[in-house]
Amino acid sequence: MRIILLGPPGAGKGTLAKDLCKEFNIPHISTGDLFREAVAAGTELGKMVREILTAGKLVPDEIVNQVVAERLRKEDCKSGFILDGYPRTIAQAEFLEKELSALGKNIDAVLYLQISEDAVVKRLTNRRICPKCGKIYNMVSMPPKFDETCDDCGERLITRDDDKEEVVRNRYKVYIQATEPLVNFYEKRGILFKINSDCEHEELIKNALEVLEKVRKSGKD
Ligand code: ADP
Ligand code: ZN
Repeated sequence: MRIILLGPPGAGKGTLAKDLCKEFNIPHISTGDLFREAVAAGTELGKMVREILTAGKLVPDEIVNQVVAERLRKEDCKSGFILDGYPRTIAQAEFLEKELSALGKNIDAVLYLQISEDAVVKRLTNRRICPKCGKIYNMVSMPPKFDETCDDCGERLITRDDDKEEVVRNRYKVYIQATEPLVNFYEKRGILFKINSDCEHEELIKNALEVLEKVRKSGKD
């Protein structure tokens, strides 16, 4: 299975990706992770993208495309992959399509996780982090034992700056705007599947697997 995941911050993309790669035994390829690893390792690529990442800007298409093309050529991608965070622009989507078709392959499914702005705000603004040890809590689904203090070190928990309401609302709007062209692109190709992600995680996984099972069956006949 060759899968692309689309969805705004807070939609649960990361957790779904982890579950799907276990289920299908295929790698989870997150361009954000690849760049962060390169920065941490101080490679040539890392040096090139470090400032872009810090500024929260997009890495130029040519660089992202090269990184992804190289990653997709690795042995572990033979039976499929899950792309997370890529493509983000039409130029990237077109490049990916060409790259795969040169290998006689294509994308099987694009899963678009849908969740309302208010639901994302509710999820992310309930997130708290311990400034001392980094442990993450959720005041609704995973609250600390005592008040708003860390279970492990007793430190007062804080809200990350990018989890503040106005910032979350802005990130959401920016995401939807930037993703719309990609949604159209894949809708035209008949491989876009919208999945409600404003639900318990188990339900999201179940729905995603159902969609992928249908895709797999239709590919066989
Ligand atoms: P976020 O959802 O916060 O943007 P990601 O982990 O997806 O986090 O990406 C982190 C950073 O890596 C982005 O801000 C951007 O600079 C870069 N990046 C990741 N994927 C892409 C992409 N497909 N195109 C351009 N830049 C990317
Ligand atoms: Zn702590």
